[in-house]
Amino acid sequence: MPTTEENFMRAPAPTAKRTLYTDAMEIFHRAGDLIGLDKRIRLELEQPDYEHMFYVTVKLRDRLVPLSEEATKPFSDLPVTKVRDPAGLELLADGKIILNGRALLGSDVVIRSGHLRLPSGGVYQLVPGENERFKAYRVQHNQARGPYKGGIRYHREVSLDLFKALAAEMTWKTAIAEVPFGGAKGGIQLDPRQYGREELQAVTLRFMYKLKSLIGPNLDIPAPDVGTNSEIMALMYRQFTDGERERHKMRGIVTGKDVRIGGSEGRTKATGQGVVYCIEDYFSEKSESIRGKTFTLQGFGNVGSASAEILGSMGARLLAVNDADGTIYNGDGVDVPSLLAYVHENPKNLKRSVLGFPGAQTISKKDFWEVPADILLPAALGGEVTAEIAEKIKVKLIAEGANGPTTPEADRVLAKRGIDLIPDIICNAGGVTVSYYEWIQNKRMERWSEAEVNKKLEHAMKRNYRIIRDVARGTARKTEMHDSRPFCIGRPVDTRCAAMVLALKRIAAHYQLEGFSQ
Ligand code: GLU
Repeated sequence: MPTTEENFMRAPAPTAKRTLYTDAMEIFHRAGDLIGLDKRIRLELEQPDYEHMFYVTVKLRDRLVPLSEEATKPFSDLPVTKVRDPAGLELLADGKIILNGRALLGSDVVIRSGHLRLPSGGVYQLVPGENERFKAYRVQHNQARGPYKGGIRYHREVSLDLFKALAAEMTWKTAIAEVPFGGAKGGIQLDPRQYGREELQAVTLRFMYKLKSLIGPNLDIPAPDVGTNSEIMALMYRQFTDGERERHKMRGIVTGKDVRIGGSEGRTKATGQGVVYCIEDYFSEKSESIRGKTFTLQGFGNVGSASAEILGSMGARLLAVNDADGTIYNGDGVDVPSLLAYVHENPKNLKRSVLGFPGAQTISKKDFWEVPADILLPAALGGEVTAEIAEKIKVKLIAEGANGPTTPEADRVLAKRGIDLIPDIICNAGGVTVSYYEWIQNKRMERWSEAEVNKKLEHAMKRNYRIIRDVARGTARKTEMHDSRPFCIGRPVDTRCAAMVLALKRIAAHYQLEGFSQ
């Protein structure tokens, strides 16, 4: 892809305070400058429409907290406690155990000064459940093209700054995917791995209780994101519609629901499937196929797992996977179905981590970035591919399954090194595209087959990706599949900028044609 240093001219002024949001908006300004974006439209898009911040409180359960080896010593003579109902103990990924009421009832339970020994041998301290308060967010960035749309993230490290960046990114993504939505994002500052099922349910219901006045099926439509899934969506759906007279009309209040309660076939895998359609199109243009290609993967959540599964089934070889807990490597190729079972179905793997997978060896994160492969697929969190890493990686293509995985400095390094990129706002747009299909099905009370969904998704992904590649090369053309003539700017630009040009031109059309209310 033709890329030149001058394409990266509009870096933020050195004195301006850099934040995740300013970093994320750098590309907006660069593309805005290139197409001479109208000043007023720029002002409209430069900041979100609304930034909501609020709090949710919840009563936590009693917990058993493991003592360190040192702290265990005074209790060396503590007898093993009889556990009446092991099912009443819920193991958390952080090593703590939630006491779901019934587990330790009975007169024979030995608890000395709040300490007890479980049959596993460990000594635990009983910590009574407290009320806890969590910070929650919903940023509604823009609705020029349709209702606000975007996921709900449950993660320890979230902030208003992050959600502003992610919400803006949804505005660009929905425009690129050509679905009639705007952009939003929100969630809760909480590490879901530290809470029990019922606690997460309670937090979610309370979250929706507060969110209800801000959203609606034709106003703002949440979906899953990092740390949330179809179970969380089901609770949000119920809480929003409970007691409503025409609740079935409101099915489209959230997308990413289970197919049995109005979700769409193909939605769970949609983001990964979309990533693969882009990669497939990238290679097919070079008359190459995915078969025989090698890839490395960061993140084995929804996007990472689905991408790996589909790429694997098409004959690509997964060499290494890095997640929050560690990295695994197998030069002959990781067996993806076994890894999927190990991470998602093994009840002993509480952390749902790839670490410890028997079919691979453990390597360091540093080494992960240096594994030579055809494709690097970041599908975890933002800001992972830094300039330093971009200097080291030995891949031909980066396909951004995550949102914002590459820093602006890293972009410059990749351009210099001639490493190709499929930018996030097209690469991972499959999720929101099928969210739109789900929303239409809900409105029409229809149910489409997975084949139908994927056929539409493939066409949408490849068509929009082809427009972006044409914009990047500056070669305007009309084919049976796509028409890039309205978007090309008469000179080559880097791919990320090309994607942004497509988004901005589609959004700007609304302001230009509809004008501004005063
Ligand atoms: N969280 C996903 C994303 O970042 C999906 C959003 C949606 O479907 O609304 O694109």
